[in-house]
Amino acid sequence: MADDGFHVYDTTLRDGAQQEGLNLTVADKLAIARHLDGLGVGFIEGGWPGANPKDTEFFRRAQTELDLEHAQLAAFGATRRAGVKAADDPLVAALRESGAPIVTLVAKSHDRHVELALRTTLEENLAMIRDTVSHLRTEGRRVFLDAEHFFDGYRSNRAYALEVLRTAAEAGASVIALCDTNGGMLPDELAEVVHDAVGTGARIGIHCHDDTGCAVANTLAAVKAGATHVQGCANGYGERSGNANLFTVVANLQLKRGFDLVPPRALGDMTRIAHAITEVTNVTPNSHQPYVGMSAFAHKAGLHASAIKVDPNLYQHIDPAQVGNDMRMLVSDMAGRASVELKGRELGYQLTGDQSRELVDRVKELEAKGHTFEAADASFELLLRDTVRGERTRYFTVESWRVIVERRPAGDIVSEATVKLHAKGERIIATGEGNGPVNALDKAVRLALERLYPELAAVELIDFKVRILEGAHGTDAVTRVLITTSDATGEWATVGVDENIIEASWQALEQAVTYGLLRAGHSV
Ligand SMILES: [Zn+2]
Repeated sequence: MADDGFHVYDTTLRDGAQQEGLNLTVADKLAIARHLDGLGVGFIEGGWPGANPKDTEFFRRAQTELDLEHAQLAAFGATRRAGVKAADDPLVAALRESGAPIVTLVAKSHDRHVELALRTTLEENLAMIRDTVSHLRTEGRRVFLDAEHFFDGYRSNRAYALEVLRTAAEAGASVIALCDTNGGMLPDELAEVVHDAVGTGARIGIHCHDDTGCAVANTLAAVKAGATHVQGCANGYGERSGNANLFTVVANLQLKRGFDLVPPRALGDMTRIAHAITEVTNVTPNSHQPYVGMSAFAHKAGLHASAIKVDPNLYQHIDPAQVGNDMRMLVSDMAGRASVELKGRELGYQLTGDQSRELVDRVKELEAKGHTFEAADASFELLLRDTVRGERTRYFTVESWRVIVERRPAGDIVSEATVKLHAKGERIIATGEGNGPVNALDKAVRLALERLYPELAAVELIDFKVRILEGAHGTDAVTRVLITTSDATGEWATVGVDENIIEASWQALEQAVTYGLLRAGHSV
């Protein structure tokens, strides 16, 4: 063991994968493991080989396909069944044969669970722990033990719960992680129990679920009480309310408590890694996630903005760069001139007093009509650019567009769009077909412009959101469309508002393409 200091143990691939709606392939799991290794976690629990064929496959492929720099793999599994020898139990054999240097055994530590779920005696449960741990130790594996339902078990029968810890430690388990399996604990009470457990002399770890909203706080309280091994999941994934968010735990311990858990450069990559993992899991990133969320360092109130200009540290708890995030100013109707100027500077534009006044007026006017620049950074930047330059950023002008939606006799619905554009002195007519009117328009615009602007091939519409807004002052309701577009290096959002949904979509689409060309470095 090169360094057996404080342990950061990730269980995204096993416990996190229990999250409703999460379905990871073996390739997904390998990809997530690489990201976690990039963050510098010490241990990655890959799953339960033998019990789950996909996990058996993961460990098999990991041996040739995973080249981990920091992390060691752990295979998760249960202690042997009652009444057999660990050496003869096929599930224990699967753990042995997984190739993982570490085996994390889950064991019962709650007397009622032993009797009701395991249907064996308290004595036999201890024998199962002793036998399985020492068997795996003899076979050269390092063994961690997850004491399931530990805190409820402690409440039910303290002496027995502590006896489980002693038994595992004596048999050679190097860490015993106390699991708040039902996630019902609060920090003060949990810390007292951890303190008592540390008194047994066993090395104590902590595994928390977030059912009380305290998983991270509980983890920190356990560390304060003497735990030296923390378990958690990327982005707080997990069943019910999730597991302790490992990213929050690591950032808190490293930045607020001075622990040296992951290389500072890797911590500075945490925001990117958190988002890269959401790409694999296909779970929408939580923009409010501490440290790594899009909004984690976003400021809205106009009142603060003038002070933020003077000293950003007055309004943020850490320098966002430490976790690879950014301070972001939201532009909204709450914001005054100071935040518009600040946002302009963030984007690299220096506004004069007149320009920022003009821009604030324009933002207010458009937001009153239903636009939202907070969610549409690219639309705001185009507006800002137009204000500074005194003219619109245009790579093409639109003569007309038309969309036909047809329900065919067989019942399928097809949309067809025709656009007539002018670009680089040419008049271009193009037609696109799609599964919906916006998709058809998007295809027609690209078809029209791709010959003149080949970069558009890499630009892709990735999200489309529609909201009906109440009409103000007796007017009709309007539709707001937000489009998210991406290219190889990032994504941007644009907004359109109109009584007609297709027109609103067109506005957002036109800006999306314009901004994409601007990003690609085209001068107007
Ligand atoms: Zn768990």
